[in-house]
Amino acid sequence: MHETALAAGVIDIVRDALRERPAERVAVVRLSIGGLSHVEPRALEFCFDAAARGTPAEGARLAIDRPPGRAHCLTCDREVGLASRADACPGCGGHRLLVTGGEEMRVTELELA
Ligand SMILES: [Zn+2]
Repeated sequence: MHETALAAGVIDIVRDALRERPAERVAVVRLSIGGLSHVEPRALEFCFDAAARGTPAEGARLAIDRPPGRAHCLTCDREVGLASRADACPGCGGHRLLVTGGEEMRVTELELA
């Protein structure tokens, strides 16, 4: 499952970040998950809880931000916001859109316990 791999990736990032400070524990992991990415936040939380067992992130909470998608409309030649990949350009109603953001997932902050 997609979210299982993502959760394992988050745990790897936490382990790397705490390599020099093995006594520290993480209370909150802040994630930015683009609005166009196919990630189900609740499924990710569930997988994260399981993957975090026995690691410095055990019991940590996920704080998930969902920045909206962005695209460049080739017809209007401007940047537009996109709530979903299937959406048309809000300016011209066209579909000649190049997605420029909103698909990424990254850890933006670790809050130590
Ligand atoms: Zn347009």
